[in-house]
Amino acid sequence: MEKTSPPDNTENLAADLTVVREYLDRAQTPEHLSAKEEAQCRQQLIELMNRKNARLVAHYYTEAVIQELAEQSGGFVGDSLEMARFGHDCDADILIVAGVRFMGESAKILSPDKKVLMPTLEATCSLDIACPIETFAPYCDAHPDRTVVVYANTSAAVKARADWVVTSSIALDVVEHLMEKGEKILWAPDKHLGSYIHKTTGADMLLWDAACIVHEEFKSRGLQNMRALYPEAAILAHPESPEGVLELADVVGSTTQIIKAAQSVPNRQIIVATDNGIFHKLQQLAPDKEFIIAPTAGNDATCRSCAHCPWMAMNTLPTMLQALEEESSEILVEPQLARQAMTPLQRMLDFASEQQLMVKGKA
Ligand code: SF4
Repeated sequence: MEKTSPPDNTENLAADLTVVREYLDRAQTPEHLSAKEEAQCRQQLIELMNRKNARLVAHYYTEAVIQELAEQSGGFVGDSLEMARFGHDCDADILIVAGVRFMGESAKILSPDKKVLMPTLEATCSLDIACPIETFAPYCDAHPDRTVVVYANTSAAVKARADWVVTSSIALDVVEHLMEKGEKILWAPDKHLGSYIHKTTGADMLLWDAACIVHEEFKSRGLQNMRALYPEAAILAHPESPEGVLELADVVGSTTQIIKAAQSVPNRQIIVATDNGIFHKLQQLAPDKEFIIAPTAGNDATCRSCAHCPWMAMNTLPTMLQALEEESSEILVEPQLARQAMTPLQRMLDFASEQQLMVKGKA
């Protein structure tokens, strides 16, 4: 594939780290429950979900106890695209979205007639924070010749301004599709994922400058040392990780793709560069394998260098129970904005279905 010139980063819009830190300071460490309290909370939630016809939709990065509860109670565990799809397809009156705010918004956009609750509305994402519509919209206006492709980790307002919304599992395919049509792309907000896609496809991409605070902590030097320690291990990395980490990886992919790869690669030991919440599902599906979290410590390591998203960690059984009891922490998206955001979201879902059909057709 012919490569075009590298991405034009001259108009970098640096993420407002101060704002991100302010949000992080509000992300409190959840209180620890005793085994008895946890069992009581789970039972109460199951009863209440049955009574209110509610379903729990959880992300792979949430705590193991939440993922277990979702599966036991007829809910769902998945990546952000699968979560939104499940929420749309199920017949619940109430969806409890255990994840971060943009996931709740996507669920509401796709299911406007359902009540969407979150354990806390404070759970956000550094990518969403670093791409406010007030600066993003003028940036798009300044580049009318580019197709605007945004990652799902954005607000409803940013989605509404985009031509396409993508998740990490489908981003590469969508950009390849646009490139084949000769389109130039404005990509936001994750610079590492954007850069990985550019490198892989050669597409002409203008990149917004923001990053995931969890994946950015993975260090290539530490990963090299770890590979020396576990020479037989495969390395699986999420594309939100820095370039040096991705270069060392045997497989680069979304959470779902990492889970599939963990089962299919022959290696018994697997080093994983993504949020450690995924280990629950990995261990469940590949119990005979040993999973090792990629190193995050380095010279610039901070107390946040723990490979776990502080906002995902805000989803707890007590906050979920309170939200469902009171029907509080509801996600509301203004109907006109929801309709506008639905267009690029639907484009992605239609594209995903078409791709699926093509794959089936070839099989
Ligand atoms: S892990 Fe990163 S991308 Fe995911 S919600 Fe947390 S900050 Fe956002």
